Amino acid sequence: MPELDWGSLGFGYVKTPYRFVAEFKDGKWNKGIITDDDKIVISECAGVLQYAQTVFEGLKAYRTCDEKTVTFRPNLNAERLIASAKRLEIPPVHEDMFLEAVDKVVNANRDFVPPYGSGASLYLRPFIFGSSPVIGVKPAQEYQFRIFATPVGPYFKGGLKPITIRVSDFDRAAPRGTGHIKAGLNYAMSLHAIVDAHENGFDENLYLDPATRTYVEETGGANFIFITKDGALVTPKSESILPSITRRSLCYVAEKYLGLKVEHRAVKLSELSDFAECGLCGTAAVISPVGKIYDHGKEIAFPAGTEKAGPITQKLYETLTGIQLGTIEAPESWIREIN
Ligand SMILES: *Cc1c(COP(=O)(O)O)cnc(C)c1O
Repeated sequence: MPELDWGSLGFGYVKTPYRFVAEFKDGKWNKGIITDDDKIVISECAGVLQYAQTVFEGLKAYRTCDEKTVTFRPNLNAERLIASAKRLEIPPVHEDMFLEAVDKVVNANRDFVPPYGSGASLYLRPFIFGSSPVIGVKPAQEYQFRIFATPVGPYFKGGLKPITIRVSDFDRAAPRGTGHIKAGLNYAMSLHAIVDAHENGFDENLYLDPATRTYVEETGGANFIFITKDGALVTPKSESILPSITRRSLCYVAEKYLGLKVEHRAVKLSELSDFAECGLCGTAAVISPVGKIYDHGKEIAFPAGTEKAGPITQKLYETLTGIQLGTIEAPESWIREIN
């Protein structure tokens, strides 16, 4: 077993022994291999380096209460990676290849899947990038599909802790652009905005719809959920929001497990003060409750405050994490066991 203190691990890169690599050459993907080589040697003119031709995914493997090693809805990560790849003219990998590669990487690094109850997990990062030289603007001829694994700690140590966010003056995505795909380029352009947010004491940026700047989109890496005063879940709808798997799962859980009404619709910035609870959802934290939103000097404070999550947010969090960890029965095909 590796010498790791699971409870004090953060969300950072820790090198694990094995990763998966497949190559696309002469118009097709090879089978790929598991390797211990964590270095990539590519041309200085590779498509990824010059024109940011790269897409990625993020998912976790963890140990359930009955000692199974599992991933959560990895077929949706495969589907989304394929959609992302197509938008950037990257040859998509087959869903089966993706699922088998994820299993292989988890299996090869089995000692790094943290024990049940630690709150930690093995984070998996699949990505595809243009590896051959490109100088005239066009898609690369050759690509690599890789998956590495890195153990990550519990996002919240000692209960959900609400965060404070601000309405950003920058946009994260253009109308009809790439906001709906998981592309590295979306993150490169959010870096200045997030550094500036942190310097000003905010945890995250709330991005508005780029066309009218009147509707709520998402943050740099998480979708919003809101709870109305009469207990319905509302989640913003827009063509430029990244379709979060956590958000889609929470909507299902809200409706089918908690009996809540769920609405997927455009959400105006001006209606935020009407909501009872607000949360951000993504694979890393599942849900981060939002305590306050600042909009240029105007403060929107949610009734649950900044010490603990609102009651429905808390319930949603417990139900989804219970499904993931095996203490609550999962909907069919949500949990993939790795043998
Ligand atoms: C990855 C990501 C999310 C969260 O998606 P999950 O599938 O829930 O992890 C949300 N927004 C953006 C912009 C993302 O890149």
